[in-house]
Amino acid sequence: APQAGSAPMSAGAIEGIKRVIAVASGKGGVGKSTVAANLAVALSQTGASVGLCDCDLYGPSIGLMFGSNERPMATEDNRILPIERYGLRLMSMGFLLDDASPAILRGPMVTKYTQQFLRQVEWGELDYLILDLPPGTGDIQLTIVQTVALAGAVIVTTPQEVALIDARKAATMFQKVNVPVLGLIENMSYFVSPSDGKRYDIFGQGGGEREAARLKVPLLGQIPIDIPTREAGDRGQPVTAADPANPVSQAFKKIVEHL
Ligand code: ADP
Repeated sequence: APQAGSAPMSAGAIEGIKRVIAVASGKGGVGKSTVAANLAVALSQTGASVGLCDCDLYGPSIGLMFGSNERPMATEDNRILPIERYGLRLMSMGFLLDDASPAILRGPMVTKYTQQFLRQVEWGELDYLILDLPPGTGDIQLTIVQTVALAGAVIVTTPQEVALIDARKAATMFQKVNVPVLGLIENMSYFVSPSDGKRYDIFGQGGGEREAARLKVPLLGQIPIDIPTREAGDRGQPVTAADPANPVSQAFKKIVEHL
């Protein structure tokens, strides 16, 4: 296994991990972390062993979504032990910082932390390692594709044009570096009002489908805006773990069949 300070890392497999899948978005706030968290839980509900690595060093949210601010322990040979939650192994910058402290990092440190999260965490044997990427196409994304061989990337977008434009950029970045885009997930697709049962297409309709066709990738699923989903995330328990019967949980159950 690679050790701290070992020479240039190549984009190889991580020993013991079968599939590394990046969850990416072009824009912030489209629900990428929510999707990453629920995909990870849904995968583990199929019986797979799953890790979730929060690669958003500047805006980590996996700790909040899983209700944990535990500090990870280190092994004697200086490897980091992930935090265990709902049967998942988690790592996040949020576990290393106080709640209110920002990560103040220059480029080289960002690269170093990203590599450490992938290579120096004792992930153990995993069927899937899900990477929650920061939004956009920056340093961290580049470091990741250079550090580890990705089985593929999933792009999260809303149906809104501004989100779709950026989703296309994210997808194009992965295609340029020969990482297969496994598909798009359209989040916040619509809202069904609990009071009148009517459907409202708050961010427009059909955007994800059109963009998936343009990129020639599958549309893996459409996730509605759902109050229990937001509440569960805020409570530190992804909705798939809190309520498997919720329509959003059911949608994630279907999506993971394609991963
Ligand atoms: P990102 O990672 O893209 O910045 P988040 O996953 O942090 O976005 O989501 C932003 C906010 O929107 C969070 O408060 C989250 O709970 C909420 N949210 C995301 N997806 C949904 C959804 N389908 N229904 C309701 N709320 C959602």
